Amino acid sequence: MTTIEENFQKIHARIRRACASAHRDPHSVRLLAVSKTFPAPAVAEAIAAGQSAFGENYVQEGIAKIAAVAALTTASSRPETAVEWHCIGPLQTNKTRLVATHFDWVQSIDRLKIAQRLSEQRPAHAAPLQVCIQVNVDGGANKSGVSPAELPALAQAVAALPRLRLRGLMCIPEPQADFALACGVFKEAQRLFHALNQQQGLALDTLSMGMSEDLEAAIAGGSTLIRIGRAVFGDRALKTAG
Ligand SMILES: *Cc1c(COP(=O)(O)O)cnc(C)c1O
Repeated sequence: MTTIEENFQKIHARIRRACASAHRDPHSVRLLAVSKTFPAPAVAEAIAAGQSAFGENYVQEGIAKIAAVAALTTASSRPETAVEWHCIGPLQTNKTRLVATHFDWVQSIDRLKIAQRLSEQRPAHAAPLQVCIQVNVDGGANKSGVSPAELPALAQAVAALPRLRLRGLMCIPEPQADFALACGVFKEAQRLFHALNQQQGLALDTLSMGMSEDLEAAIAGGSTLIRIGRAVFGDRALKTAG
């Protein structure tokens, strides 16, 4: 068994344990493998291990890798796997066309202008772009994300755009000193998520939160999509960007 396969087994075991303690169905939590800085062959190995959804932070790196992974998986004549690519990094307006063209999801929407451009630039032949709004749930000063106060208006405006489909919220809270504090922050994100469905008439199904260090607290707090980099692919500090 390869290291990446072993890592997936460990993460799936962590997800099962966290769901058991939170009295949740393990199928209610999806795993996004965050492949930023890791090369295309590592992604191909993850696909061979059964993983199908990948996250990238940097647009140019992500687009090069999407092409490289497609070439690798075709060359190896593996059965056709539908791979889903999520853009999870901060977005600039000059990159929206590339993102709208190459990605399936964007989780880092934090202002209307970006969402409008993505909707206008999404190719007509492609499915609507699946999007999440990034919310700054704990008020971290140097974090991107819309404030909870501005969230309902932004969610309504994004939900009305024709070529986007608003799926939910994404957050990256600051690390907390203990499990209970971390759960509290994640539950606040879940409260905002439920409020959009119950008070704003939206039908959101995705709450993207939890990384390698805090996936247990995120699952206890209601996460439906955890984003895992290092616990799948290894230590980023030992790799060169590529
Ligand atoms: C890098 C990154 C992750 C994955 O973090 P790990 O600590 O490697 O699991 C998840 N979400 C976002 C937005 C990231 O930038």
